[in-house]
Amino acid sequence: MHPFRYDRALTVQEALQSIRNGKNTAFLAGGTSQIDLMKEDVHRPDALVDIKRVPLAGILLLPDGVLRLGANASNNDVAYHPLVQKQYPGLAEAILAGASPQIRNMASMGGNLLQRTRCPYFRDTAMACNKREPGTGCSALEGINRVHAVLGASEKCIATHPSDMCVALAVLDALVQVQKPGGGRRTIRFRDFHRLPGNEPQKDSALEPGELITSVDLPAFAGRSHYLKVRERASYAFALVSVAVALEMEGDTIKTARVALGSVAHKPWLVEDAGKRLQGKKPDVALFRAVADDAFKDAKPLEHNGYKIPLGKNTLVRALMETSGLMPLQGPAGTAFASSAGGVAGDEAVA
Ligand SMILES: Cc1cc2nc3c(=O)[nH]c(=O)nc-3n(C[C@H](O)[C@H](O)[C@H](O)COP(=O)(O)OP(=O)(O)OC[C@H]3O[C@@H](n4cnc5c(N)ncnc54)[C@H](O)[C@@H]3O)c2cc1C
Ligand code: SF4
Repeated sequence: MHPFRYDRALTVQEALQSIRNGKNTAFLAGGTSQIDLMKEDVHRPDALVDIKRVPLAGILLLPDGVLRLGANASNNDVAYHPLVQKQYPGLAEAILAGASPQIRNMASMGGNLLQRTRCPYFRDTAMACNKREPGTGCSALEGINRVHAVLGASEKCIATHPSDMCVALAVLDALVQVQKPGGGRRTIRFRDFHRLPGNEPQKDSALEPGELITSVDLPAFAGRSHYLKVRERASYAFALVSVAVALEMEGDTIKTARVALGSVAHKPWLVEDAGKRLQGKKPDVALFRAVADDAFKDAKPLEHNGYKIPLGKNTLVRALMETSGLMPLQGPAGTAFASSAGGVAGDEAVA
């Protein structure tokens, strides 16, 4: 492992001072992702700034109805928070579908947003990878590309973003609050937070070096939300494809709809047209099928990942059926899952 300096920050100010300009330094939150990458020699920072004790773990309801999730709040604290379970059950489902209870106790909001791809070539330093070492090539293009992107990829990188939680945050129109190292703050809309690879696959997000995420803010939302994850085994596996849905109903008619796909692109993939197509319509399988067909119309399968297109379409249709009430909510193994009226059941049976 590359030698590094370790600093422990107790305040936001100390964290920003210690990180300096952010060049070849990194924040350390739960460490469940960062430490692995350092042990595997994939990331070789000269310094780590431990932010675990910086008081950013609060979950607060703001006067304007926004629910502020502190950057250091653990994934489990967020998933089991009564307001998250009641108002944003799709977010609770997404978090509880990821990793294991132990990892979710350590993993933070900020760290989940910035976890790196699970492309196996990225984590194997013997293989060429433009994301790890720009300009070296992409081993996945001609390699085993089963888990890779079918939407929004580039010739430089075909990796997917692995987070479950981020797919749900995309449909909830979350905002990421950021402190800049030189002073001042900014807000990034969640939909703009992660990047497509283009010519710079080494950049996963819109965050600049040294910037600190302080919270993820959820606008008030009175509708239904739901997350459906398909994976190779029922626990402890990353998604092959996933779908998050946020729906507001007026009687038996859809008033607003937002849909996002996970594990099909370099970022949570918002299905931009879904809202327009579903608005003012009654839930209907043929309509949902048409939305799903459209969502994948620009998909470009590689040698081993063509299965993601029918799988993604079917998952999208089922997620819309479950969220709109055409079909009862079910976990992957038939376990009763989160209800849009609140309450999460069957966590460990499906986590
Ligand atoms: C075995 C295993 C299985 C997993 N399965 C899943 C899964 O199924 N689904 C899923 O979604 N995830 C899964 N994960 C990933 C897990 O969710 C992430 O590792 C975790 O969320 C990272 O959070 P952390 O606090 O540990 O981040 P760290 O490892 O501490 O940091 C990760 C990155 O975020 C940066 N960072 C952290 N906080 C901030 C901040 N406030 N501001 C700026 N930068 C920051 C760090 O510098 C680092 O670059 C799995 C992980 C493991 C190890
Ligand atoms: S897909 Fe991206 S992360 Fe994977 S080898 Fe290619 S460049 Fe690297």
